[in-house]
Amino acid sequence: MATFIVLLGPPGAGKGTQAELLAENTKLAHISSGDLFRENLKNQTELGKLAKSYMDKGELVPDDVTINMIRDRLTRPDCEAGAILDGFPRTPTQADALEKMLSEFGSRVALVPYITASETVLVDRISGRWTCRAQGHIYHQIFSKPKQPGICDLDGSELYQRDDDKAETVTKRIRVYVDQTMPLIEYYRKVGKIIEVDGMQAVEKVTNILLSALKK
Ligand code: AMP
Repeated sequence: MATFIVLLGPPGAGKGTQAELLAENTKLAHISSGDLFRENLKNQTELGKLAKSYMDKGELVPDDVTINMIRDRLTRPDCEAGAILDGFPRTPTQADALEKMLSEFGSRVALVPYITASETVLVDRISGRWTCRAQGHIYHQIFSKPKQPGICDLDGSELYQRDDDKAETVTKRIRVYVDQTMPLIEYYRKVGKIIEVDGMQAVEKVTNILLSALKK
């Protein structure tokens, strides 16, 4: 059966970084709903324009639009063996839809790592975060500097600060996470899928914990 992993945690907990590393180690596809919206935004699609109005305010894009985008992505051939889902689902409606989609493929969510961090750490991480324009690789101005300032080590593209990573929007995003996404922790805990990991440990340590949980 294909392996689908859902990464849960507040913005800045390290979901994107861990998803990249897990995908590299497991060869599963990495699906980031935020990256998909940003790609649409860059290409000025209708979906991108719609998403922008919500993203700029730090709010969630409506469920139906988000679910359709993920359904499309999950049907691509690189998801046949499964995927690491980063940023989706973010509401109980999305989680129900995911369960339904995966059951159509004869699959289900295997594991839900829940990555935690204190609010001060989240704000520090997000406000110092720089993202690569081409593929969304993540850096930090203090904790994880690129070799050359402003340039992605992996693909040489420009690094930029996401509009929604600016201080004003960050607190709002954390509030939205608490109100709309935190109920998913209980949703997945009830079915025994949650493993809680302290996201304030070193990046490699978190990856190793996640990889050994996946092997079990
Ligand atoms: P992220 O890159 O995961 O921090 O997402 C950036 C922004 O994209 C969020 O603040 C939302 O506006 C939007 N977004 C990403 N994933 C979702 C989702 N699953 N549901 C609704 N909106 C989302």
